[in-house]
Amino acid sequence: MNFIETRGNDGQHPEKVSFSEAILAPISSYGGIYSPEHLPDLGIDFLQQHLNSNYKTLARAILGAFEIDIDQAVIDKALSLYDAFDDSSNPVPVTKVDDDLYVSELYHGPTRAFKDMALQPFGVILSAMAQKRQENYLILAATSGDTGPAALETFKNRDNVQVACMYPDGGTSDVQRLQMVTEDAANLKVIGIKGDFDDAQNALKRLLGSATFKARLKEKNIHLSAANSVNFGRIIFQIIYHIHSYLELVRQNAIELGDKVYLNVPSGNFGNALGGYYAMKMCLPVEKILIASNRNNILTQFINTGKYDLRQLSVVATTSPAMDILKSSNIERVLFDLFGSERTRDLMLQLDNEKYYELTPTELAQLQAIFAADFCDDDEGKKYIKNTFAKGYLMDPHTATCFKAYDTCRDKALKTIVYSTAEWTKFSPVIANALTGEVDAHDIDALQSIAKEANIEIPVIISALFDKDIAQKSIIEKENIEAEILAFL
Ligand SMILES: *Cc1c(COP(=O)(O)O)cnc(C)c1O
Repeated sequence: MNFIETRGNDGQHPEKVSFSEAILAPISSYGGIYSPEHLPDLGIDFLQQHLNSNYKTLARAILGAFEIDIDQAVIDKALSLYDAFDDSSNPVPVTKVDDDLYVSELYHGPTRAFKDMALQPFGVILSAMAQKRQENYLILAATSGDTGPAALETFKNRDNVQVACMYPDGGTSDVQRLQMVTEDAANLKVIGIKGDFDDAQNALKRLLGSATFKARLKEKNIHLSAANSVNFGRIIFQIIYHIHSYLELVRQNAIELGDKVYLNVPSGNFGNALGGYYAMKMCLPVEKILIASNRNNILTQFINTGKYDLRQLSVVATTSPAMDILKSSNIERVLFDLFGSERTRDLMLQLDNEKYYELTPTELAQLQAIFAADFCDDDEGKKYIKNTFAKGYLMDPHTATCFKAYDTCRDKALKTIVYSTAEWTKFSPVIANALTGEVDAHDIDALQSIAKEANIEIPVIISALFDKDIAQKSIIEKENIEAEILAFL
């Protein structure tokens, strides 16, 4: 299968690229991104056929339908990483929580958040491609918390890939920071920046624009790559669990094959939701995809009004920080799929230039035929955490935003799959506060208090972090990043 450009072709870029090229060079003409030329049409027969397939068999069949240019042995090795999730026979358990509400848990991987679902297999694929081409890659990442640990974990000790990861010192949770600074593999560099996430991100942007930096990389024969959430190498792995979760509901006799469901997704950069959209187009009977946001509710505004308006907005810090995003990158692929490349180019260039665009009423109706949206502020989120815990289910603040959309966006009494994107251990101070009202300055106190309250153990993978040696000690001014990374290379 080939990939084509969301903003059309400018004559400077190839019009079509293979899957591996789309992964290595994710940026295309006019600043667009690559999207599948067409999606595989699997239909209901595919679901019937895979009713009793395990996760990896299903994954192999879905990836096979995309006809990607990756050797089967590499794909199998990539998928084998799901064996190390909590339950090797089922990396994504689906639990009934309330009436029509089922939670699909995407956090049973090594860093206890949903980024592992895609980044774990992606790390194997990128490294295999680099080895095959006999090239070396540097992955640069600025993280506010979840992507950094997941990227380090997947690339550690992998051949032909190095990672330099920047985080705002003091701007992540203790667990997130420890997950990064205790990584000791020689191909990983973790750098704390004195400043906030914007400073880390801007430092990264300056670095990418630096002529001396680029010249030094060229001298060392190192290519730059990104593992960010527009990379189709991540998106493809995010289609699988939507189909798996639907089949789980059939297997649990919650629905019959062919019944429609709602998918309910806590959204930031829209990678998870896009995976659901593609799954729907390929085969899944979906009534609507419910998009949940926090106070950074631009997606709610967009889906409800057709206006994507950044003019008066700046990001506000919330208790669901992985969703503190205003420029939601993967929306572009939905626009492209619905309205074509010319229209997408116009809209995205308008967003770049005027920080604003608006759909026509007909376009908005098309969007609303697929998506509905609502947002949940921090106080509402805490209430959902507390009330749901009282019913016997412990969840994190990102997952909680979905419960609001479940209450407000459904107009049919259909079964609903809520996607849980982080384990309680990742955002424990917020959860402890929701449950008991306590205010903890340190994760360890919150973890212990939740464990006691819920009568559960802190997973060893988390508790062990507090005893590990700190391998990554750099905390620097943002001006010194270039020198720091060059010294590492
Ligand atoms: C990344 C992330 C999200 C947002 O997912 P997108 O695919 O960017 O929409 C939600 N919750 C958690 C915990 C995350 O790490």
